[in-house]
Amino acid sequence: MAGLTIEQLRERVRGEVIAPDDDGYEEARKVYNGMFDRRPAVVVRPANTGDVIAAVNFARENQLDLAVRGGGHSVPGFGTCDDGVVIDLSRMRGVRVDPANRTARAEGGATWGDFNAATHAFGLATTGGIVSTTGIAGLTLGGGIGYLARGVGLSCDNLVSADVVTADGRFLVARENENDDLFWAIRGGGGNFGVVTSFEYRLHPVKDIYGGPMFYELSEARNILRFYREFIADAPEQLGAFPAFQIAPPLPFIPEERHGDTFLAMVACWAGPLDEGERALKPFHDLAPVVAEHVGAMPYPALNSAFDALYPPGLQHYWKANFVTELTDEAIDAHLEHGPKVPVVSSTTHIYSINGACHRVASDATAFAYRDANFATVIAGMWPDPAQNEANIKWVRDYYDATAPLSEEGGYINFMAGDDQDRIKANYRGNYERLVDMKRKYDPDNLFHVNQNIKP
Ligand SMILES: Cc1cc2nc3c(=O)[nH]c(=O)nc-3n(C[C@H](O)[C@H](O)[C@H](O)COP(=O)(O)OP(=O)(O)OC[C@H]3O[C@@H](n4cnc5c(N)ncnc54)[C@H](O)[C@@H]3O)c2cc1C
Repeated sequence: MAGLTIEQLRERVRGEVIAPDDDGYEEARKVYNGMFDRRPAVVVRPANTGDVIAAVNFARENQLDLAVRGGGHSVPGFGTCDDGVVIDLSRMRGVRVDPANRTARAEGGATWGDFNAATHAFGLATTGGIVSTTGIAGLTLGGGIGYLARGVGLSCDNLVSADVVTADGRFLVARENENDDLFWAIRGGGGNFGVVTSFEYRLHPVKDIYGGPMFYELSEARNILRFYREFIADAPEQLGAFPAFQIAPPLPFIPEERHGDTFLAMVACWAGPLDEGERALKPFHDLAPVVAEHVGAMPYPALNSAFDALYPPGLQHYWKANFVTELTDEAIDAHLEHGPKVPVVSSTTHIYSINGACHRVASDATAFAYRDANFATVIAGMWPDPAQNEANIKWVRDYYDATAPLSEEGGYINFMAGDDQDRIKANYRGNYERLVDMKRKYDPDNLFHVNQNIKP
């Protein structure tokens, strides 16, 4: 080895260094997507940024592959690798809220559950994912779409600063007027530019919300999707909502005889004044008979964790995605053909609205380029049994093949499969060349390549 040995690394690192013969290796090598069964040479669980620097230097000097894991939710399994180094940030999950300045600083291994719990205590929140177990890191670095996005922008739009360990082991602060080219690149460019050890976010007054899921008969789906397309274009921005093709899980608010039936669901989140919530959701109630719903006032973190049980770790995942500017009747017809064939309860299609505040950021102001797209669609295959991989992957691919020609060329990198690497240029549109320049500046040897890779 050209650099330190694993034994020497153990002496330098305050956190854990887990090699194949160590207790805990089997657990440490796992990622959320059960499709990936990889065996790294070593998993480092840093206790602090110094440990991250040591692990980055170790990987580079020994010319080993390097995977970085925040919350571990990467659908293509980018949080692990064979025979290389994994930096698993799961011990670094602290969140410190500054209520006076309405900001929060969170370590790179925090999940949205960690983050929301900390900020909720102060009646504050920012845009994060719709599931609480997703990591803030991967989600924010790719953009970050969630219930609050129409009102306050993507997660990356709320980033104030980030602490970054670059490929050469340097520690850089990225924010406006300090390494601002790096700050530009990490707001959408994914994990290509370094390990982010902490993120500082802008917060907004959001404590309790009014919302939840509503289930409609499939026979209403065309009507509802067409309504959603028009309504969400200029609905009040405190409203986040997305339609989903969804098999009814066995939950108490759904009539027992309908468990297992497929529905068109609408999930809504009104983050404005609570007493206006009922009125804000009235259009969804007037639209068609609601078969079942779980709608009401609740703490924002409660909605944020309401679907966690549908997505336990270890499922098989295969996803595809597109941005959509015009959700045409033809595109809706394609959804109506494939959405109702959703094969299992955890699989789904979501059509997220990304207008409002997301549109008010210029396409070249951050690496996230699709600022004029109105929707981000994800076809998310998630199922428990590897023996069913072929059928489930086929559902995603057939659905994608039908909708992609009616969508933009690019899609949201965080919703993409590993076989989508050839779409990366399209995902960044006019920002791609600048991202390549940034990659050449900050990671010319492509140490950070276990990701949706921007090649130097
Ligand atoms: C159940 C589920 C729900 C989801 N819901 C949403 C949603 O509502 N909105 C949305 O926008 N996306 C959503 N996603 C997609 C999600 O944004 C991506 O999967 C994201 O990559 C997850 O981040 P992570 O930190 O958990 O993943 P990881 O697997 O840890 O990392 C993902 C990528 O980011 C890099 N990375 C991770 N941490 C760091 C770090 N600290 N520094 C540098 N690079 C790092 C990794 O190398 C990898 O390339 C969801 C995914 C799942 C599985």
